[in-house]
Amino acid sequence: MTSTKPHRLVSTDDDPRIRGLERQVRALMEELHRVRNEQRHDSLTDALTGVGNRLALAGAFTQAMEAAANGSSPPALLLLNLDGFKSLKSSAGHAAADQILVTVAMRIRSAVREDDVVTRLGGDEFAVLMPATPKNRATAVGNRILAALEPNIDLGNNSVQCAASIGLRIAEPHHTLEDLLQEADFAVEESKSEGRSKLKLFDPVTLHSRQLQRQIVGDLREGIRADQLVLYYQPIVELATGNIEGCEALVRWNHPVHGLIMPDQFIPVAEATGLIAELGRWVLRTAMRQLRQWRDDPATQQTVFSMRINVSAADLQSLEFVDDVRDVLLAEGLSPDSLVLELTEGAIIQNNELDRYTLMSLRRLGVGLEIDDFGAGYSSMGYLRKLPVDRVKVDRQFVKDLGKDPSQLEFLAAIQQVIRSCGLEGVWEGIETAQEAELLRSIGCTSGQGYFFGRPLPEADFLARLKATRGHLWPIPEGFTGHK
Ligand code: C2E
Ligand code: MG
Ligand code: MG
Repeated sequence: MTSTKPHRLVSTDDDPRIRGLERQVRALMEELHRVRNEQRHDSLTDALTGVGNRLALAGAFTQAMEAAANGSSPPALLLLNLDGFKSLKSSAGHAAADQILVTVAMRIRSAVREDDVVTRLGGDEFAVLMPATPKNRATAVGNRILAALEPNIDLGNNSVQCAASIGLRIAEPHHTLEDLLQEADFAVEESKSEGRSKLKLFDPVTLHSRQLQRQIVGDLREGIRADQLVLYYQPIVELATGNIEGCEALVRWNHPVHGLIMPDQFIPVAEATGLIAELGRWVLRTAMRQLRQWRDDPATQQTVFSMRINVSAADLQSLEFVDDVRDVLLAEGLSPDSLVLELTEGAIIQNNELDRYTLMSLRRLGVGLEIDDFGAGYSSMGYLRKLPVDRVKVDRQFVKDLGKDPSQLEFLAAIQQVIRSCGLEGVWEGIETAQEAELLRSIGCTSGQGYFFGRPLPEADFLARLKATRGHLWPIPEGFTGHK
């Protein structure tokens, strides 16, 4: 018979081999845990500065939005972009640039609370996500960061200052992180364009007008080519006789979607993008072709007057402008005195070599040169004598107050006297009533323009008025006592 010995129950407590094994497993687990934590930390950390990275921002954003969905306040995002970092980097070198980024990260961290998440998104861009933070507190934090960045950063052998432009956006329920970053970035751009080192709160209205502007730029290029621009014409009248002496061509844009757009809305865009050169050439060609037609038309040819065209600063800077003017006059068989170019004070006052060259060449060509909107800008009487112009169109703000304030007439008489004593002719714009026309005539003003004589009209309507002129007498409303 075989006898089996009962198994002895093994107690782990007293088996040293098993205890050792257990210790090893525990140590291994702890090590694994530590490595996993380290890996997790690394994957959420910006290696250079030690603050969070984009992944950390994404995590914090998701958490804060979930909390907001459950009733807490929405998070706020501050997006920072260092000012002039590129040039700092190229002048101070890469190592110094890294040191600056590390210092900036530290300073941002010191300016925020423990549960605000500071991250570097790459380059010189940082973001701070503040859970459940209202606008006022977020603004205060942003300003604290700006203040923290003020002191110079010590780089060993020299020190530099590195300010930042900051955009603030409070999250809304529909926001993804990308949306939030994009809108905060728009606020950063606004801060940069307003002179940097500022905190700007995202403003949807500004964003909308910028987007519209961008759209206009794209559309305008197409608009010029697709013949969507139109010219309106407004008469300039001799105050003593009521005769038409000129007409101003004023451009409008017949937009296929937005309808008729006024020049104030697209000329600045055209100027800022260089499209103004093409636009200006179109206006010059179209207006002079129109004048040729009126002079050829038996129904209107007895009324001879000049065309007035608005010229922008960019035109004066273009070497081809004088040639364009000469070519158009030649092509239409019109004499130079049939064209007057209106230049604003702003355009003319740049007064560099090219401007002077263009102005002198135009003058030699024999076209009329007029300062437009006189008194609206720099108002320096001094340059009236120096510039090679022969006319001044006084800004309509001066006429506006006529009739309200008795001393205004004396003031206008003084302006008129200065213009005359400089050997120039004055044109007064913005005349809206018979009384204004009469008062101006009474102080010796010779020429006027304004709604009283006629609003800017499309070609067909202007032609109808032109056909109704007797000799040169422009048909104006009853009650005008200025001409005899
Ligand atoms: P501007 O050259 O001073 O043109 C006069 C502006 O005053 C015109 O506005 C005209 O409609 C308006 N106006 C005329 N009479 C009266 C009046 O009695 N009362 C009032 N309140 N306003 C009057 P518009 O057509 O909107 O043009 C605005 C500006 O756009 C022009 O000012 C000019 O600087 C610019 N502009 C217009 N056409 C062109 C163009 O072909 N090229 C360039 N570069 N600029 C243009
Ligand atoms: Mg004008
Ligand atoms: Mg004007």
